[in-house]
Amino acid sequence: MIVLNETHQPELRSWVASANDDQSDFPIQNLPFAIFKRRGSNEKFRAGVAIGEHIVDLKAAHKAGVFSMSLTPMLKTLHKSKLNQFMGLGKDAWSELRLELSRALRVDSTLQTQLENCLVPQSQAEYKIPARIGDYTDFYTSINHATNIGKLFRPDNPLLPNYQWIPIGYHGRSSSIEVSGHGFHRPKSQLKAADADAPILAPCKRLDYELEVGIYIGKGNTLGHSIDINDAEDHVFGLCMFNDWSARDIQAWEYQPLGPFLSKSFASTVSPWIVTMEAIAPYRQAWSRPADHPQPLPYLESHDNRSSGAVNMHLEVLLQTAKMKAGGQVAERVALSNFSQSYWTIAQMVTHHSVNGCNLKPGDFFGSGTQSGTTANSYGALIEATTGGKNPITLSNGETRAFLEDGDTVTLNGWCDSEVAPRIGFGHATATVLPALED
Ligand code: CA
Repeated sequence: MIVLNETHQPELRSWVASANDDQSDFPIQNLPFAIFKRRGSNEKFRAGVAIGEHIVDLKAAHKAGVFSMSLTPMLKTLHKSKLNQFMGLGKDAWSELRLELSRALRVDSTLQTQLENCLVPQSQAEYKIPARIGDYTDFYTSINHATNIGKLFRPDNPLLPNYQWIPIGYHGRSSSIEVSGHGFHRPKSQLKAADADAPILAPCKRLDYELEVGIYIGKGNTLGHSIDINDAEDHVFGLCMFNDWSARDIQAWEYQPLGPFLSKSFASTVSPWIVTMEAIAPYRQAWSRPADHPQPLPYLESHDNRSSGAVNMHLEVLLQTAKMKAGGQVAERVALSNFSQSYWTIAQMVTHHSVNGCNLKPGDFFGSGTQSGTTANSYGALIEATTGGKNPITLSNGETRAFLEDGDTVTLNGWCDSEVAPRIGFGHATATVLPALED
């Protein structure tokens, strides 16, 4: 577990004025990473760190002599258009850079003049996927979500017996993960109505979002060697927002016996920014398992996991329909939940994933699974909020949604706060549903 240090001090202020707004996602205590360039320019994509409404161009800052000479090998990895090599350096390297950046961005820093020339406004930036995601694994860690979905697919047996013992997951598809801002076409595959004799090939009718936390692996492990739960978080670089779009009608027909396939692989959306594990340290919470539930096997138990394995991270879904957009109406909240309610922790996901010797690599990605609370306004997917489409939600302009329609824009937001630490945010994961492509 990461111990709090001077970079977390709530009283720190930056000479970048917009970072001192208490509603900013990116105060000086956050310092998340992205890959960016100026929109429409011929510049190369490279690494940046968010501060207020700006981005510190790390390559430019390196060249301007802002950092210690000892950081030079590390900084060279940040000239690249992917963070994988930097992610593989491990937490001591990430922490050294964070400390120097924090000091350089503070009010009264002697480096202000040099660093001012290395800022790019976020309003002028375009982003891309911050890492080459070799493998993407989708977990299923919200017991509320698993129970709600289970009731729809298996009313008599909603929660399968393995759920309370294993962090359930499956191997997803990384090639179709895109950064916020990209639209995608409504997917087609086989659909089979309950009363039909045969399936048809058609555009999905039950398109859904999934409110998830994305987890980027930092340092990997050697094939054949598992990761002890006490070391698990040392292998995690950071977190982002993640919308794992799902086609529920495709899923219903295809998912047995091997699980989801084309119902998930057509698109997923990540937010551009990765908030490091060090940045979320002040927002950790105790993790517990109800006393009448099975307790984890010893390899999934640790003191730190019990005392601070959970993350107090608020998770929000906003929806803006085409009609709302045309009428100048802003997106409205359709769900609010919290990652602290997850049945399994990040450390348990990492440890279980590797217990068979499977090797994780820098830039590998986990989806947490849809994070749902216990009430209808906290359900992280429409299939839960509408009970399988039977009870559509009503928006403030009178429109209803059982599932998503073409032109709908979904935005996921996340933020951490606490009584003793400032709010830090994760930015947005936004995408718009486009009509199915004509044959
Ligand atoms: Ca998912």
